[in-house]
Amino acid sequence: MDIANRLTETLDRINLAAQRGGRDPSEIQLVAVSKTHPPEAVQEAFEAGQRIFGESRVQELLAKAPSLSSAIRWHFIGHLQANKIRKMLPLCELIHGVDSSDLARDIDRIAGELGLFPRILLEVNVSGEGTKFGFKPDALREQIDELLALPRVQVEGLMAIPAPVADPEDVRPAFRLLRELRDEISSTTGTPLPVLSMGMSGDYEIAIEEGATLVRVGTAIFGHRPRLKPEA
Ligand SMILES: *Cc1c(COP(=O)(O)O)cnc(C)c1O
Repeated sequence: MDIANRLTETLDRINLAAQRGGRDPSEIQLVAVSKTHPPEAVQEAFEAGQRIFGESRVQELLAKAPSLSSAIRWHFIGHLQANKIRKMLPLCELIHGVDSSDLARDIDRIAGELGLFPRILLEVNVSGEGTKFGFKPDALREQIDELLALPRVQVEGLMAIPAPVADPEDVRPAFRLLRELRDEISSTTGTPLPVLSMGMSGDYEIAIEEGATLVRVGTAIFGHRPRLKPEA
């Protein structure tokens, strides 16, 4: 099967999962995760109608973006290093994995220097022990007012990468936790946080049933990835 067919199949499954969850399919957007795949693969998905693409390495994004259509909407989904913010900000319409107040403040300061108002999602550690990145729910409750008060960054919602599980059904409680935390924080702060980025190739349908508005799907569209080397 080629990329266009796998894309169509993924979109069909997104629609079906939305119906099962009693949701309007138009609330859900697909982020096609193109990391490690060549620009030709992105181009193929673009020609099939896909517009939002996710990358997790700034270097790779900088190498890939110039040869592709400016109609592509890039999302940064990786672990962002402070020294890469300046180069990434002008290219991306949404930063998914902001995992500390320090990082949010750095983004805010650099956005000020560049005259930008970046949209961000706060990454929550929904799996407890064993996963490195993300706000612990209690830390987020404590720091949310400060994060929402940053003048430049616009917090639009939450994101999670649950720890891998053998049976995708076992990840459902983590997705539910993210949605409930969003509902709680949205209500205590009086701030709409409409975006929930959760779900990958193995579990995006479950994530949609639990309220995802952005699903990040790579392998199911582009096929398997070579193993990534640590970022320089
Ligand atoms: C790589 C990646 C994905 C895509 O994973 P697949 O299992 O290939 O769909 C989604 N989210 C993040 C944060 C990633 O790094």
